[in-house]
Amino acid sequence: MGEFDLITRLFAPIADPESALGLQDDAACYTPPAHHDLIISTDALVSGVHFPENAPADMVAARLVGTNVSDLAAKGARPVGCVLTLCVGPQWDSSYLEAFAAALKTHLDSHGLPLWGGDTVSGPTALVSLTVHGVVPRGEMLTRKGAGPEQDVYVTGTIGDGFLGLKEVQALDTDERAALTSAYQAYAAPTPPLNFAQHLRALASCCMDVSDGLAADLDHLCAASGVAMDIALADLPLSEAADAYLGAGGSWQDLLSGGDDYQLIFCAAPAARDDLAVLAQNCDVRLTRIGMSKSAQSGPCRADFIDPDGQSLEIELRGFRHF
Ligand code: ADP
Ligand code: MG
Repeated sequence: MGEFDLITRLFAPIADPESALGLQDDAACYTPPAHHDLIISTDALVSGVHFPENAPADMVAARLVGTNVSDLAAKGARPVGCVLTLCVGPQWDSSYLEAFAAALKTHLDSHGLPLWGGDTVSGPTALVSLTVHGVVPRGEMLTRKGAGPEQDVYVTGTIGDGFLGLKEVQALDTDERAALTSAYQAYAAPTPPLNFAQHLRALASCCMDVSDGLAADLDHLCAASGVAMDIALADLPLSEAADAYLGAGGSWQDLLSGGDDYQLIFCAAPAARDDLAVLAQNCDVRLTRIGMSKSAQSGPCRADFIDPDGQSLEIELRGFRHF
């Protein structure tokens, strides 16, 4: 299948009927709603780095959409469209590409994210990248910087499953058995709480997604907001798999810095507790208050993880580093 066949046969049928112009023009055309800001983010996944070289097409598509939607969720944005950059690697034949396009459609649809266009090239290593666009009412984007001291710190979902799922994916040649575990699913198909995030704009003072690891990302929130945080280890939301991992001698360090969680962390005033609990229930989101922000006047802008004895946990590597 050549470049133009690929576009006509695989991508034109799944593209947005209006904005994409049938993928027969040089660019897409989108009219943003009045009095809204356009929120733009991009994330690339490289074969052998962000997914295994032999990853099924569905995993690549699900991770591509999940990691990108996670950034829109973190900003409280409603998705409006995306463009796809596809670098076809040597191992991706036409049946793989067909499976990828079909899976991409499923995952884009599940978040209401239309495909506007893209670019197709080939190269020595497969790479996929989305640039996603969302909208928020003007001036209302959630940022990393709004937290003050004495606010509650929250996380959605559970922490550490992306790390555990990656280990499962790496340990198996076949995904059949592992596909049943929740950790595998968390890695293979991250599902950021997009609906919940739309309502957070009214309640949270700052927000970001957890992609590199809870420790590193809480530090980023602290640095941007100019605060520190005390986080209670005992309050961190863990799946059964993560509980079992700790029980078997696994380290907190792995769960806190492993990355690939694609959940949200945010701060809110204590007065918002009841509203947040109702929102989480309505959106079927697990929401956990994990600590408090505090003034950084007497120390660094970072998150301290406090164990039940009141001791601060030493975490050497706080998150994934791309290079
Ligand atoms: P270029 O300007 O790089 O030559 P083209 O003009 O060939 O790109 O692109 C033709 C159309 O196909 C454009 O509408 C573009 O958005 C779309 N397109 C190309 N690759 C993809 C892809 N991987 N996914 C979605 N649309 C694509
Ligand atoms: Mg062109």
